[in-house]
Amino acid sequence: MTIGTRLFVLSMLLLLTPAANAAKAYAPTSVDMDVKKVSKHVYYVEGAAGIATDNEGFISNAGFVVTGDGVVVFDALGTPSLAHKLVGKIREVTDQPIRKVIVSHYHADHVYGLQVFEALGAEISAPEGAQKYTQSDAARMRLEERQISLEPWVDEDTRLVLPDITVSKSDHFRMGDLTFTINYMGKAHSDGDLTMLVEPDRVLFSGDIIFEGRLPFVGNADTNHWLDTLTRLETSGLTALIPGHGPASTDPHQTIALTRAYLAFLRDVMGAAVNEFTPFDEAYAEADWSRFQNLPAFAEGNRINAFQVYLSMEAELLEQ
Ligand SMILES: [Zn+2]
Repeated sequence: MTIGTRLFVLSMLLLLTPAANAAKAYAPTSVDMDVKKVSKHVYYVEGAAGIATDNEGFISNAGFVVTGDGVVVFDALGTPSLAHKLVGKIREVTDQPIRKVIVSHYHADHVYGLQVFEALGAEISAPEGAQKYTQSDAARMRLEERQISLEPWVDEDTRLVLPDITVSKSDHFRMGDLTFTINYMGKAHSDGDLTMLVEPDRVLFSGDIIFEGRLPFVGNADTNHWLDTLTRLETSGLTALIPGHGPASTDPHQTIALTRAYLAFLRDVMGAAVNEFTPFDEAYAEADWSRFQNLPAFAEGNRINAFQVYLSMEAELLEQ
């Protein structure tokens, strides 16, 4: 081979490598992902009601807003494969560049797709608390577990992407003719949560501070602050609310009422038990769960939710 030929081959290899990598980067997903339009500029895709590893990991929602001057995405789904599919769906609606991704909170089902948007050059904003999560042992162990339970869609190339912008107070920005208000909610459902209001459409993306059509997941939430957040959430005039899980609601007041009633009930029952030194098992058995027991995920989630609230309210009592 002459030097000229070698240089030619080398340059062809360099040209081909990125394309080859991109082609093998994301295992294809077979899930149905229907884009739903909720207003003039706002669309979303809805994950199935189920546990984290159901439906190839497609159990949470993501949305996108077409502004005329670029696209804003809300949440990044639970695998890079799902995010890659979402990008394809966005491309069916518009060829405007995806400029920003707003992340409601750092839980696996909402952030494992971020690297797809990072590769497209989108700017990623997330609430304060994201760093705490990404550096935690829990996050590392969760990723290792999902590399097995959601294989091949989460694999050794899947990684946690840190945000470009950390949001620690409420703010707004404009893109095209639209105004986006990012509300920082503090530590409510997770180590940090935010919501996004799109105007003039008056559509609110709530992330996981609102669950629709299933039992809320409490996890390590600060239920006191979460409840307070919901009580202060301004819903008047909204045309739709897109929760982190479940269908978009055209009756936001009603939707918020369910999450609020559930958290308030947990805190009432478990708070009384803690104050009276009633053992958890006894308090759980005596509580009247009839209002919530027909909700999907009740069997899997209610006892552990109640136990978390019991333990955290014990801690609150000791802090007083
Ligand atoms: Zn979630």
